[in-house]
Amino acid sequence: MKVLGFESSCDETGVALVEVPEQGGGAPQLLAQALHSQIVMHQAYGGVVPELASRDHIRRVLPLTREVLAEAGAELKDVDVVAYTQGPGLAGALLVGAGVAVSLAAALGKPTLGVHHLEGHLLSPFLSNDPPEFPFIALLVSGGHTQLMRVDDVGQYEILGETIDDAAGEAFDKSAKLLGLPYPGGPHLARLAEQGDASAFELPRPLLHSGKPDFSFAGLKTAVLTQVKKLGDAPTDQQRADLAAATQAAIVEVLVKKSLLALKETGLKRLVVAGGVGANAELRRQLNAACAKRQVRVHYPELSLCTDNGAMIAMAAAMRLQRGMATLHDAARGSFEVRPRWPLGAA
Ligand code: ATP
Ligand code: MG
Ligand code: FE
Repeated sequence: MKVLGFESSCDETGVALVEVPEQGGGAPQLLAQALHSQIVMHQAYGGVVPELASRDHIRRVLPLTREVLAEAGAELKDVDVVAYTQGPGLAGALLVGAGVAVSLAAALGKPTLGVHHLEGHLLSPFLSNDPPEFPFIALLVSGGHTQLMRVDDVGQYEILGETIDDAAGEAFDKSAKLLGLPYPGGPHLARLAEQGDASAFELPRPLLHSGKPDFSFAGLKTAVLTQVKKLGDAPTDQQRADLAAATQAAIVEVLVKKSLLALKETGLKRLVVAGGVGANAELRRQLNAACAKRQVRVHYPELSLCTDNGAMIAMAAAMRLQRGMATLHDAARGSFEVRPRWPLGAA
């Protein structure tokens, strides 16, 4: 069975084709994927402009679909299920992916499957060469979410703790903006931090000692702003690099401590990291070191699959289908809805 998957929740248009083997035939296989990032288009505005995002998804989605089918040596008629990101995300952007998916499926006489975007992130490490086994603790660190959860299987998610304000990716991006770096600032801040000395600035680590796997990053952004103001109009390259390193160190320390707390509380010995911030090299380095010491196995998505992509959406759909837990919709009925706000626990 072949699943075609669409991702269009924010500023990446992603399409992928996944093969779901017959029962007992092993894990789903990624046949092909294609991605277009709108980052350059939104950079001029310092962030994502929803209307422009929707329009660009419309321009990209069909050419990307043709690319994926050609690469996989498949045709539209080979597709058995059309999956798409149903939420959470930008309503207009989601409607493009959903509209295309439902139209295609209706034309093909095939069903659709709405996928939770965070479930896609969460299951993206199953596309790696070193896929995890259930159960595990998941550290989901993306642009809009920061959560620790206990994952017993697909669809069995117990949220242990989450951020009470900004997400980790947001903390990276907002601090980077204060340092004059382009959007999205996470990877730029990480690169600048390589030249810096994290001990040159003292920044807060909110809720570090709360004893619960919860997070708060809004105060960090304020502290970075205070330091930027103190540095004045012409900070040196070294000062900017030091502040970048200190910011990254503060975020990473909290993420590592809280992950260890969740592992300890549950007694689980497996950690899965997912979402854009999971690409951060310093986070990976520190998690690897801390987990090695505690005989905990850590799994990451491939670097290119940390941020939004179609492969994770098709994969999440495939894993649900394999387990007989996919709610398929009759596309011929025509009506569909997206869920811009959709807590993962309700998926
Ligand atoms: P959500 O999935 O919560 O809806 P999103 O889709 O925007 O949000 P992702 O695509 O998972 O989030 O991740 C994007 C975020 O990851 C951005 O905040 C970006 O700055 C951050 N990010 C990407 N690479 C790195 C890196 N190397 N270091 C730190 N942050 C990074
Ligand atoms: Mg993005
Ligand atoms: Fe995302």
